[in-house]
Amino acid sequence: MLKRFLTCLTLLIALTIAGTVYAKPAELTEINAFDLNGDTVRIEISYKGGQIDYRNISTDLSSGILHVELDNTLPGRISRVSGTKIESDTKDFVEKIITNKTQANHTSVQIHFKSFVERGDVKISLEPATRAEKKSARVVLDVTKSLLPENEWTWNDPTDAYQKIIVLDPGHGGSDSGAIGPTGVTEKSVSLAVSLMAEKLLTNSGYKVIMTRTTDIDVAAPGVPDSTELQARVDKAPPNAALFISVHCNAFSNSTSNGMETFHAPTAVKGARLARLLNEELERLGGLNNRGVKAARFYVMTHSQCPASLIELGFITNPREEKLLASKDYQQKLAQAITNAVNRYFNQGGID
Ligand SMILES: [Zn+2]
Repeated sequence: MLKRFLTCLTLLIALTIAGTVYAKPAELTEINAFDLNGDTVRIEISYKGGQIDYRNISTDLSSGILHVELDNTLPGRISRVSGTKIESDTKDFVEKIITNKTQANHTSVQIHFKSFVERGDVKISLEPATRAEKKSARVVLDVTKSLLPENEWTWNDPTDAYQKIIVLDPGHGGSDSGAIGPTGVTEKSVSLAVSLMAEKLLTNSGYKVIMTRTTDIDVAAPGVPDSTELQARVDKAPPNAALFISVHCNAFSNSTSNGMETFHAPTAVKGARLARLLNEELERLGGLNNRGVKAARFYVMTHSQCPASLIELGFITNPREEKLLASKDYQQKLAQAITNAVNRYFNQGGID
């Protein structure tokens, strides 16, 4: 009898240990984001086949990204972004959701918000599966929406070094000259010269700069479709790049067209801020007619994973501006303007 009791006890202990250490990981099945009541965004992470408890979850909300770390889970079929559903009423503020298996039985979920950057607590609750509502078990995260005024946005946390990779994309190159001025100055040479100068200034300011090209080359290959060439440039940006800036010169059939302008992708809030700062600094240091900050669907902006702007330094088809754009002194001013804008973006130095 005692022996049988001991056997049972041993078995019980063994099962308990197995249950603790080797609990079957839950498999994530779906992530939904929706507007709860106008003030709160609710993120629901559904799962099946295992248990998630509060000790398995940690969250961090900073710089507009909610990081959710889930122990004892597998990303399952949502490991592909296409498996992630973002309901239409959240499209205004949820940009994308990324899931990654970062270690064995550990899943990282990143929810990228478009336009609110509150740092703060996230309310976590766990909901069991309900047969009546046909809902599976869920981790529920309630995030209070907080639209801060632009001038209160800060990304200057020195520990956030990963946010300081700046990608500079000198437009055109190699087989593609870009626009050509009346005396033969090429857009590809101006964009490269200014970008190389900006690379130096930014590096001296402590940024890590990645150039899509540093010489007169096609980044993909000569003669490929535009989208292939432009995607090759976008792909130069690591996933943790902070900013993507594409440098170009304008051109028009009428040689009196003149001035500078900067672009961002439509609805890209951070991109718009970057484009505005670049525009202000280019106007201040370059002094050309300011054609403004505009939204456009340029490939490198709509395909960048980080805030992006495309800048048109001036009209290379305008004789006066062609001459300026070809001058080293003027190029240096433009490079300084780019650097100032990046510094202001991160609220370092300068006024904003
Ligand atoms: Zn161009």
